[in-house]
Amino acid sequence: LRVETIAYTVTTAGPNATRAVAARLAPKLRGGETIELRSDLGGGKTTFVQGLAAALGFTGVVTSPTFTINQNYPLPSGLALHHYDLYRLVEAGIVGDELAEDMADDQAITVIEWAGLASSRLPKDRIVIDITPTGEDERELSITATGPQSAELIEEFNQ
Ligand code: ADP
Ligand code: MG
Repeated sequence: LRVETIAYTVTTAGPNATRAVAARLAPKLRGGETIELRSDLGGGKTTFVQGLAAALGFTGVVTSPTFTINQNYPLPSGLALHHYDLYRLVEAGIVGDELAEDMADDQAITVIEWAGLASSRLPKDRIVIDITPTGEDERELSITATGPQSAELIEEFNQ
């Protein structure tokens, strides 16, 4: 049973506004969080991660890890930001093991696009962000906490 305790919904008018929402979430992350990003192709998942990585102090370029499957962005805080995109995977396999390891690391923040193949391994307590296009450049972002640790972050986000 999954209790969706608390949620926050916001509409963004363009990619930079989506990055700005991510930048608001960034300072709340302490390590150990898993963020699942859900949308259709081109919804804005990678755009959200760009905003997150930049706000966490990563100065490099964040592109879609669709072909590399995962990227690791070292952060000035000493934490690592792991960015997975399982779209091209056929089975979770060894990537699933690596993902599980990263999600269990309290010195890492793990974000996942197309997490379906690994759904059984995702932590029960995570942040789920659903992105829905509501116009050409408009997206509705629905941020849901699926457990108490995440709920605490989203609760603050609401204030
Ligand atoms: P995904 O990773 O979900 O496939 P991307 O982030 O790679 O999506 O691509 C989203 C595309 O939509 C980009 O070209 C981005 O500029 C565009 N876009 C337009 N409006 C928005 C918005 N409000 N939020 C995020 N992306 C947007
Ligand atoms: Mg993407």
